[in-house]
Amino acid sequence: MDTALTRVIDAIAFAAHAHRLQKRKDAEGTPYINHPVELVRILAVEARVQDTDVLCAAALHDYLEDCCGGEGQPTLEEGRRMLEHRFGASVRLLVEAVTDDKSLPKAERKRLQVEHAAHIPEGARLIKLADKIANLRDIATSPPADWPLYRRRDYFDWAGQLVDRLRGTHAALEAVFDQAFAARPV
Ligand code: ZN
Repeated sequence: MDTALTRVIDAIAFAAHAHRLQKRKDAEGTPYINHPVELVRILAVEARVQDTDVLCAAALHDYLEDCCGGEGQPTLEEGRRMLEHRFGASVRLLVEAVTDDKSLPKAERKRLQVEHAAHIPEGARLIKLADKIANLRDIATSPPADWPLYRRRDYFDWAGQLVDRLRGTHAALEAVFDQAFAARPV
């Protein structure tokens, strides 16, 4: 019988393997897996979220988007089946709820994220909040090398609009987001 702890460790290990060749966009090119691990940390340590499905899905939140459907990768359908088989249907549903449709242009995907934010399951809203907190902190302290000021500001503003649609989900996480947002570049 899997315990909560073994499930979360297994999800982190699965994500570490899946993202092993990917790097973040920051100037140092830090390993991609640092980002999903940071989401798990924000949820478990900063927000005291104990729902194992949410913590597993946070570790896996970029798996379908970044590790499936591309050249030499499992198909999206194979990825979904893999998640369900290994982590269960509710983890698979949470990951799907935070996955963009990559066939759409980037601007449309960002617009849809804001539009859909209020309608996704509560666990997926927690993951979105943690994702935006992690990204704002990263952009404030170690932004992508080629992002001019306006682009960093635009990301903050878009994240702010998105989180406004999620308000009422988790007061402590929303306060953590507001703290991160205070570092908006001016
Ligand atoms: Zn993310």
